[in-house]
Amino acid sequence: MAVADLSKLLADGVRGQRILVRADLNVPIRDGKISDDTRLRASLPTLRRLLAAGARVALASHLGRPKGERKPEFSLAPVAPRLAELLGQDVAFCPECVGPEVGTALEVLGEGQVLLLENVRFHAEETQNDPAFAKALAEPFEGFVNDAFGTAHRAHASTAGVTAHIDRVAAGDLLQSELDHLRVVLEPERPLMVVLGGAKVSDKLAVLEALAPHADVLAIGGAMSYTFMAAQGKPVGASLMEAERIDDAKRILAAAEAQGRTLLLPTDHVVAKKLEAGAESRVVSEIPDGWMGLDIGPETAERYALEIAKAKTFFWNGPMGVFEIEGFDAGTKRVANAAGDTDATTVVGGGDSLAAINQIGVGDRITHLSTGGGASLEYVQGLELPGVTALER
Ligand code: ADP
Ligand code: MG
Repeated sequence: MAVADLSKLLADGVRGQRILVRADLNVPIRDGKISDDTRLRASLPTLRRLLAAGARVALASHLGRPKGERKPEFSLAPVAPRLAELLGQDVAFCPECVGPEVGTALEVLGEGQVLLLENVRFHAEETQNDPAFAKALAEPFEGFVNDAFGTAHRAHASTAGVTAHIDRVAAGDLLQSELDHLRVVLEPERPLMVVLGGAKVSDKLAVLEALAPHADVLAIGGAMSYTFMAAQGKPVGASLMEAERIDDAKRILAAAEAQGRTLLLPTDHVVAKKLEAGAESRVVSEIPDGWMGLDIGPETAERYALEIAKAKTFFWNGPMGVFEIEGFDAGTKRVANAAGDTDATTVVGGGDSLAAINQIGVGDRITHLSTGGGASLEYVQGLELPGVTALER
């Protein structure tokens, strides 16, 4: 079954109709000020298309984790004026997301106008996907558009439950673009090269399990490589290591081998005794006692870069070292530049990985920067995303 698309919804006509848009407006707010409006900008294309077609749009989103309570610091109210600036038109604000106040606000909302609803997570029923709450959310609307890819892996009332009560649904442009680009990892032009890094095997266990037998080459970096090295009986010194994940690492190594896939681990390391800028560091092929691996070494970085250059499809999640600290960022830089240099389809996901890509300045040379975090990782594992399934018609 296919996900209903926005062009079809628009072609069928939305003029004068009340359309509920679930967007990801979960921006960082400090003292009532928005410090980064990337997510607001990302939600504009879908909004603009709906407004230009004459829809009466109500926007729903979560902000932070108020845990079912009306906490003022998690109010979406500060988003309305910024969104108005970006859209170049007024954005009305409704201090509720369900009930008579929404109905009243919609009555005075004209064609091509926008209303921002208050944080859906002020109601505990949102994350419980409570059917009565989902019905109340849907009640005033004739159509529903989900553009919040980052929460599509959660079966919540505003991402999944609501679609049981609205016939006309569609994926927004942002969500559709994430699906189209991430699908490339599931059905890659081969060879598919995957680089996984970051702090913990336990964070990425499911994606490692899924991609080790699927990727032609899987290269591991970051702190998680030390758990894999420990699984091979190699010394890891004082590096971050998860002893309780060694058996998982052994299973993942075996699965890759059984499928005839290549699983690469670092063969040299940048080590230090302290995790701080300016700490004395060395490049070693065997980690001595008392020293921590804080980045992949130059030989490993070169080997990974060579494999990236050979791939037709490349997926990357998780930095190769403690890239936030000068001296331990070279491995991450090398991988980022290799991703920027290749003509292959390149997809990068993960909060810290995107921060690294932007810090290094190669973002515009990557095919797709996935904003999804957890949702992206679940999707590339081949898992069903409840928020996406809910849009199938
Ligand atoms: P993402 O957000 O891209 O999914 P993660 O959150 O999994 O990435 O991992 C990023 C974190 O991993 C960074 O804070 C980085 O400093 C840390 N990290 C990477 N390599 C190491 C290492 N060798 N030792 C300690 N921390 C590391
Ligand atoms: Mg992270």
